[in-house]
Amino acid sequence: LITQQSQEELYRVLQENRHLQETGKGDQIKTVVVSMSPQSRASLAAKYKLTIIDCARRITGFFKRLGVHYVFDTTFARNFSLIESCHEFVKRYKDAETEKTSIPMLASACPGWICYAEKTHGSYILPYISTTKSPQQIMGSIVKDFLSGQIKKLPNQIYHVTVMPCYDKKLEASRSDFYNDLYKTRDVDCVLSSGEVEKMLVKEGISLADSEESELDTLCCGVGREEGILNHSGGGSGGYLEHVFKFAARELFDQTLDTLEYKTLRNQDFQEVTLEANGKPVLKMALAYGFRNIQNVVQKIKRGKCPYHFVEIMACPSGCNNGGGQIRPEDGENARDRLASVNELYSSVHCIDPRTVQLIEIMYRDWLGGQNSGKTRLMLHTEYHAVEKMTNALAIKW
Ligand code: SF4
Repeated sequence: LITQQSQEELYRVLQENRHLQETGKGDQIKTVVVSMSPQSRASLAAKYKLTIIDCARRITGFFKRLGVHYVFDTTFARNFSLIESCHEFVKRYKDAETEKTSIPMLASACPGWICYAEKTHGSYILPYISTTKSPQQIMGSIVKDFLSGQIKKLPNQIYHVTVMPCYDKKLEASRSDFYNDLYKTRDVDCVLSSGEVEKMLVKEGISLADSEESELDTLCCGVGREEGILNHSGGGSGGYLEHVFKFAARELFDQTLDTLEYKTLRNQDFQEVTLEANGKPVLKMALAYGFRNIQNVVQKIKRGKCPYHFVEIMACPSGCNNGGGQIRPEDGENARDRLASVNELYSSVHCIDPRTVQLIEIMYRDWLGGQNSGKTRLMLHTEYHAVEKMTNALAIKW
């Protein structure tokens, strides 16, 4: 996993492409695609003291100079993940009235949490986890299925790299659920951490602050070129609770909410929001970040005493902007100050409703064949598997 998913592996593929070009075998070149997470971009922007859009253009320029063909943003895939989570929740909530499903629904975008749930809580906790894929894996479906069709390549003729704030994303990409048996290829071939991209910049002797800019790529005919960079759908880690709560309040209780009032419980990483109707709580959701808060929620579920309908769970305290793969602070720089500047940059872009993104609507119609199609299920949802024993590495981590 370490050699398969490292900057050396990306360099090897780029080198092979150059060799094929030079030896007249250009038709065998792999199309190299990089999909960058907004948290990694904020980490790079903080390190090199750039604005988000400046950083996006310069990192695109850097990868293109190395021979990468397309650089995308996983915010686009996150829109699909948020929309699917909203619909999945409303369906579960309605079905729960007839006990056909499991509530609370637990968010699934954090592979650190998913590994822990599969390896320590077995099949008991898995039915509660949302089946919606994470933004990284939805981006995998988009690149290997949608983009391959657009550029007339087979999925295994594309080498897809993501840039993420943590190492657990490498584990997620290597799950058998995200392997295409027909074409013998993964939806995401290589995951680099933000820190590993910084190492590439150092190796190339480039400071992002002085590097060349490049125009941003778009998945389809120029639509949404900068939409995914200049707008995102909120939340330092997921933004899942915010969207699911507002959507459910509207769909189930005909209430339109502009802002949510969070109540802090044990600490800043454990907060809840409640909607009342006729003096009674009808919708209750929580954010639980970090191991202690996750354990608290899991124990409540096991005892049948969990008061929540939905919980946004993230393994890292303070969420993904604080992930273990983010760029470390400089010598003498305070880690809190660096995190504050990453959070500030991450939040410096507009928040939008993912349903208003024009290209999302087009892709639901033209790529997936509608919201409830079999293809939507295949491309945007997954499943989980109970594992009997924890590996030593995970036992140490948790
Ligand atoms: Fe990775 Fe941490 Fe984010 Fe989970 S919360 S996806 S472990 S960075």
